[in-house]
Amino acid sequence: MPNIENSTLQKITFSEIVQDDISLYIKREDLIHPEISGNKYRKLKYNVVQAKLENRGTLLTFGGAYSNHISAVAAIGKQHNLKTIGVIRGDELGVDLEKTLANNKTLKFAYDCGMQFKFVTRSDYREKTSKVFIEKLQNEFDNFYLIPEGGTNELAVNGCEEILNSETDKFDYICVAVGTGGTIAGLINSAKKHQKVIGFPVLKGDFLASEIKNYTEKTTNWSLNTDYHFGGYAKTSDELIGFINRFKKETNIPLDPIYTGKLLFGVVDAINKKVFEKDAKILVIHTGGIQGIEGMNTILKKKNSLLIE
Ligand SMILES: *Cc1c(COP(=O)(O)O)cnc(C)c1O
Repeated sequence: MPNIENSTLQKITFSEIVQDDISLYIKREDLIHPEISGNKYRKLKYNVVQAKLENRGTLLTFGGAYSNHISAVAAIGKQHNLKTIGVIRGDELGVDLEKTLANNKTLKFAYDCGMQFKFVTRSDYREKTSKVFIEKLQNEFDNFYLIPEGGTNELAVNGCEEILNSETDKFDYICVAVGTGGTIAGLINSAKKHQKVIGFPVLKGDFLASEIKNYTEKTTNWSLNTDYHFGGYAKTSDELIGFINRFKKETNIPLDPIYTGKLLFGVVDAINKKVFEKDAKILVIHTGGIQGIEGMNTILKKKNSLLIE
């Protein structure tokens, strides 16, 4: 079972941080559960409660082939005896399911949890929030509880408000990776008056601030640092992978290449560029995503790139 007690605070000492008058801590949300990790557990918690209240026996959601969210929904569904359906981007993956499962640990894990897949073309996948597409799904499947891609909705934000607690009050800055914006919205809502929340988007583009504003009324205690997306979602570089490997070697903390690797790279770089004032106390949130490392290594291997150790 997921255990939030595992999400402890750890001090980071890392030789590549040259400014030594700041203090840097990490909150290990990745240790909540190996597959229902970090923010995905927080985001699903109240949605599962709601699905049960509505007497829906099935969770339906959307994701890519290596999605942390797909992995988390499959596992939490299994734990709560709820059926799960994953609408997965890429119809080619459905042609030979056995082969797909042999080559993809995320989907294999979800499948073994009992998730049923519906593989769709990339163009159909883009329609996933349209009324017509959802009506088609409602005709095809049982009375399901729909969770959007990435899991962000009002209840997910409520769950993420619980990441911060009395132990985190002592920090001046809370830093977090941003995908759809649900997690940072929760942090913004529950941050104390003296705290500032800084998001590091892993996607290109500037639509995120308005997404975040859908879930929070606060406007002055947060900002986005858009310098560390490394080209966009799921894009990486040898520089980033090298950083992730060195960070793990020194601190023993694994980082994923899509979210938390970019976050820590950004925070360390920002510290070294003296973005934070002297004596600042900084907390980074480790939102998890470790299950995705193997999938990324499969892709990196094909490109003959550096692998995550
Ligand atoms: C999904 C995810 C995020 C992004 O969360 P959002 O609420 O979509 O912004 C960050 N880190 C990890 C590890 C994730 O899996």
